[in-house]
This record gives sequence, structure tokens and C-alpha cells, in this order.
Amino acid sequence: MSDCIFCKIVSKEIPADIVYEDDDMLAFKDIEPKAPIHILIIPKIHIQSMDQVSIEDQNLLGKMMIKIREIASILKLDNGYRVVNNCGEDGFQTVKHLHFHLLGGRKMQWPPG
Ligand code: AMP
Ligand code: ZN
Repeated sequence: MSDCIFCKIVSKEIPADIVYEDDDMLAFKDIEPKAPIHILIIPKIHIQSMDQVSIEDQNLLGKMMIKIREIASILKLDNGYRVVNNCGEDGFQTVKHLHFHLLGGRKMQWPPG
């Protein structure tokens, strides 16, 4: 999508601090980190939100979940971490390209605000 900031990161029109990339996905550091470690994991194809995923995306989503675990392991988040997806207006999604937040390096609060 031409006006999507995360599509522009995928196409390298906008720089990002990329920590992992393959044919299906990209992982990069959040520009405004909410924890000592804050990585965003996105599919390379433009999917607007979790509410737009379909059965055709199940392999992609599965791969992303496994990769999140691998990234957490590489970053030595041995004491735990949080994986977040904000979806839609009530979920406080600000970038309309599906992404998962991997947050770690500090004790999280629950419930979220
Ligand atoms: P969300 O509120 O769940 O849609 O999360 C969007 C996230 O994208 C926020 O945590 C932003 O800090 C992050 N973000 C926005 N623009 C960029 C960018 N150019 N590079 C890295 N992270 C970004
Ligand atoms: Zn996009």
C-alpha cells in the first residue's frame, strides 16, 4: 500500500533498525520503545489488522509467532516477555498494517491500560 508507513519500511523507502528479515516478514526496533526491548514484527504483505486475517494467512501467522519466540531467545529474554497486537480503534492500533509488539527487559503490568 503506497501510503502505509510499514509498507515503506518493507520496501526500504523509510529506514528502520531491522533485526530480522526473510521472504515473509520483517522485524525492527520500535521508534518509540515502551520497554528496554521493543521489536515490531510485521508481515511483508499489507494486512490491515488482526481483524483482516483469513485462513490463507495461517502459515504466515504461525511462522511469525515462532519467529517471535526465536527473536526473544536471541535477545535473551529468558525471564519472560510480552507479545501484543493492538487491533482497531478500541485496541489503540495507530499503524494500520498488522504488527506484533515484542516487549521485554522489564516487569510488565497487568491489566494493560
Ligand atoms: P500500534 O499503536 O499498535 O499501531 O503500534 C505502532 C507502533 O509503531 C508504535 O509503537 C510506534 O512507535 C511504531 N512506529 C511508528 N512509526 C515507526 C517507524 N517509522 N519505525 C519504527 N516504529 C514505528
Ligand atoms: Zn502496509
